[in-house]
Amino acid sequence: VILLDDLTKEFPADPPVRALSAINLKVEKSDYVAIVGPSGSGKSTLLNMLGLLDRPTSGGYRLDGIETTTLKDGARTTVRGSRIGFVFQSFHLLPHRSVLENVMLAEVYGAGPRTGRRERAMRALERVRLSHRVDFPPGRMSGGERQRAAIARALMGEPSLLLCDEPTGNLDSRNTGAVLDLFDELRAQGMTIVVITHENEVSDRAGRRVRITDGILTEG
Ligand code: ATP
Ligand code: MG
Repeated sequence: VILLDDLTKEFPADPPVRALSAINLKVEKSDYVAIVGPSGSGKSTLLNMLGLLDRPTSGGYRLDGIETTTLKDGARTTVRGSRIGFVFQSFHLLPHRSVLENVMLAEVYGAGPRTGRRERAMRALERVRLSHRVDFPPGRMSGGERQRAAIARALMGEPSLLLCDEPTGNLDSRNTGAVLDLFDELRAQGMTIVVITHENEVSDRAGRRVRITDGILTEG
């Protein structure tokens, strides 16, 4: 699904900061890959590249057979909205709106078609087992429930790739386990998952671990 070919990212500075250095990476459908590495090593920069949130300085990125580096902005946004879901450490939910409204708001960011929003939101909430919480505001839910709501929102565009930056960083170990179980279920349904993590509990469950040190990627 993912094919990175000598992907390099430099940020302008004097001298330029080379955040990613000629990264080669292949990730297959239903893979679960953990990205580990010290602070400032380039993990979030790599996730931003994979999520089409930023453009590389050089190199190729093929997603589901589409060479993304040569796409215009509009086409990139369409690919992102239809193929990629995002999950972050802080859940970025509106605390006083219901869970259902929060999940439906994914459309504002271009995830999926506008028709059948409510039905798709309900289905996404079923997938994360939050059907009993649709009318609840996230402000009154536990951290684990909030992260599951955020995952439901990420599922709205029916993505094939889920990109997660420290998804369990704010969760205790029981809720971390629940999120990891959910990842297993999504993978069984064909989802590809890439997770940045500092926690062994999260990387141990991954089929594969890649390490980034000073912008250089190594396996294992
Ligand atoms: P952490 O574990 O702390 O989140 P990280 O591995 O995610 O770190 P990145 O955020 O990818 O690290 O940053 C990699 C390098 O690129 C750092 O040296 C950082 O200062 C630099 N960097 C990141 N974003 C920018 C930017 N927008 N402009 C300039 N430099 C940047
Ligand atoms: Mg980071």
